[in-house]
Amino acid sequence: MPDVDLVLRSTRVVTPEGTRAASVAVADGKITAVLPYDAEVPAGARLEDFADDVLLPGLVDTHVHVNDPGRAEWEGFWTATRAAAAGGITTLLDMPLNSLPPTTTVDNLRTKQDVARSKAHIDVGFWGGAIPSNVKDLRPLYDAGVFGFKCFLSPSGVEEFPELDQEQLARSMAEISGFGGQLIVHAEDPHHLEAAPQKSGPAYADFLASRPRDAENTAIESLIAHARRLGARVHVLHLSSSDALPLIAAARREGVRVTVESCPHFLTLTAEEVPDGATEFKCCPPIREAENQDALWEGLADGTIDCIVSDHSPCTTDLKTPDFASAWGGISSLQLGLPAIWTEARRRGHSLEDVVRWMSAAPAELAGLSQKGAIEPGRDADFAVLAPDESFTVDPARLHHRNQVTAYAGKTLQGVVKSTWLRGVRIADNGTLAEPTGRLLERNN
Ligand SMILES: [Zn+2]
Repeated sequence: MPDVDLVLRSTRVVTPEGTRAASVAVADGKITAVLPYDAEVPAGARLEDFADDVLLPGLVDTHVHVNDPGRAEWEGFWTATRAAAAGGITTLLDMPLNSLPPTTTVDNLRTKQDVARSKAHIDVGFWGGAIPSNVKDLRPLYDAGVFGFKCFLSPSGVEEFPELDQEQLARSMAEISGFGGQLIVHAEDPHHLEAAPQKSGPAYADFLASRPRDAENTAIESLIAHARRLGARVHVLHLSSSDALPLIAAARREGVRVTVESCPHFLTLTAEEVPDGATEFKCCPPIREAENQDALWEGLADGTIDCIVSDHSPCTTDLKTPDFASAWGGISSLQLGLPAIWTEARRRGHSLEDVVRWMSAAPAELAGLSQKGAIEPGRDADFAVLAPDESFTVDPARLHHRNQVTAYAGKTLQGVVKSTWLRGVRIADNGTLAEPTGRLLERNN
């Protein structure tokens, strides 16, 4: 075993066994031991003492739209990974759409990896895409290292990434299940969307009515039915409708392999507070009512919702027109997810251990990243150092996102990320970013 070269010390280290005062020994970018707080620092090792700031495992964000290449003016690997590092995230998985090309063939994956390689400030992996025309590409993509496959059941918003109908869904799911992969799904049913009133304009209530809960509930119901029949593994992306929680919980009880994520905007923002014309709050499915948000938090508390990931989906300012029907949908929060969730979690009586489970351990498990997601021997030395009692007001100009449009502008949030560490290297220090040292990740085994 290589010699310990770094020791990180804090009175509050969040480990899988709980939070305690400890010294974390690191050698060659890996955690080698979690030692007592006052353990002697080995000769030749550097000590970093964070006093009462909390040492967390680096966050894992499995839902990020980087859009590079092709729509790099919306976001890019350089800006996205800097924003992530500043926000305490050390691993992200890129979604297969909104870049050109989309990640639907091995050649396209290689194109994206080539673009990302020199720009990655944190570790970056890729989801593949399942579209009607690429069933034959799924296995080669999986062998090339994607973590699973994303599909839509309703229009995605970009023509190069068409949705699957029920028959195509069944075919892709069977193919993916056949080689042990997982399908991750934007679950809104197109027929329910078509049947809903579609009224353009600046009123948020009209937009909300155009994306009803039924669309989500029905899509999730059909997804569960396919997964049950095929024995397939499926993951529900960005759950907004809390009405779907009982059917997800029931499916799990009978052994259907379904996991679920939700996002900071569904858990911290409400429909009631969205001003007319404020399309920085537009996303699909939409932010719903406060009562829905309460139920989502109950779903987190009882374990029906596994994880919280950003669904960071930015665009240029000009695409956020004041008309909810035509504005681009997507909320930017990569740098803000941890303080946004911590602020609300604390208010609702949850601990930082809960937050770490939802934002680091569970997403790492979803992606099969056994080297990430916990402070314990053998894992990568990835950390976020958080001052949980400090607060700040969100100033969009201080975000590292490519575009400073965000629904969180002006919000006061608790929890300041002091520094972020990737494999034992400090990659963010009070908002100052180091040169890129991220690696491109491929699916384990
Ligand atoms: Zn998304």
